[in-house]
Amino acid sequence: MNDHTIAFIGLGNMGGPMAANLAGAGLAVQAFDLDPAACARVAEHGARIAESARAAAEGADVVISMLPASRHVEGLFLGSGGEPGLLAGLAAGTLVIDCSTIAPASAQKLAQAGRAGGIAVLDAPVSGGTAGAAAGTLTFMIGGDAADLARAEPLLRHMGRNLFHAGGAGAGQAAKLCNNMLLGILMIGTGEALSLGEALGLDPAVLSGIMQKSSGANWVLEKYNPVPGVMEGVPASRGYSGGFGTDLMLKDLGLAAEAAIASRTPVLLGGLAGSLYAAHSRAGQGGLDFSSIIGLLRPRGA
Ligand code: NAD
Repeated sequence: MNDHTIAFIGLGNMGGPMAANLAGAGLAVQAFDLDPAACARVAEHGARIAESARAAAEGADVVISMLPASRHVEGLFLGSGGEPGLLAGLAAGTLVIDCSTIAPASAQKLAQAGRAGGIAVLDAPVSGGTAGAAAGTLTFMIGGDAADLARAEPLLRHMGRNLFHAGGAGAGQAAKLCNNMLLGILMIGTGEALSLGEALGLDPAVLSGIMQKSSGANWVLEKYNPVPGVMEGVPASRGYSGGFGTDLMLKDLGLAAEAAIASRTPVLLGGLAGSLYAAHSRAGQGGLDFSSIIGLLRPRGA
């Protein structure tokens, strides 16, 4: 299965280590990002850096994208400002795997446009954070045809441990929105509990240890503690840099809110969490990891 040529577009906090894992496994990776520094990091792992997304896709039978939001993905594949998108130039039979978190409706639009040109498109957003991307242990939530997923599986296994077929086109994104709405709420709830503990004189590391083995246990406590110094290797312990940006969480909560309104579903805590991340972003913290939201809650800030 190492005879693929993979175009990888978007080499940021997540795409960078994902592309590095594919190249490290001996696959031919033609990578591109608008940011030359991101390209340089992936080149160190053996990927060939292309001059443009179009050049990266030349001769590739699989195209993987890991971009910030719907507009970037639609712009890349469907075109923008009169420029044609990448889909128009891909050979029939090419497999496109978009791993970005975008609106389910955008994923469906992409799948439909692909189908018209004989190109298979999967939406395959991920969970597991930058640590999971680096370790190759991501969870993939996949929307699209089972036969296309079977083709993608050997490649996805180089980047992830858990693969879930959520349903047809857009279903992976729908699952991702539900998950991230819960994560956004969990981060705030966990931050509130830790802040209250500190105000009551508890050491946040001791309280975290207690709650991890009690009924408040959750992924944030286990893998992503928001208090600086409690856990090594997480954004909180490196000035909230290099993780999952507050503005990206805000984007996901916006997508969840849109989907909730469209489906007439009450998401009270999801809406409140969105407003808190919006306030945090407006205060100038949008580029920091989302765990820095604890700065709004903690007695002496983050
Ligand atoms: P990031 O901002 O670190 O990386 C995005 C990269 O895309 C940047 O390097 C940027 O230069 C590049 N880019 C933007 N437009 C481009 C274009 N047209 N062509 C080429 N490159 C382009 O973001 P990230 O944290 O890697 O997140 C990427 C996606 O993964 C987002 O949708 C995010 O919601 C999702 N996600 C992130 C995490 C996380 O922990 N960071 C976890 C799960 C899912």
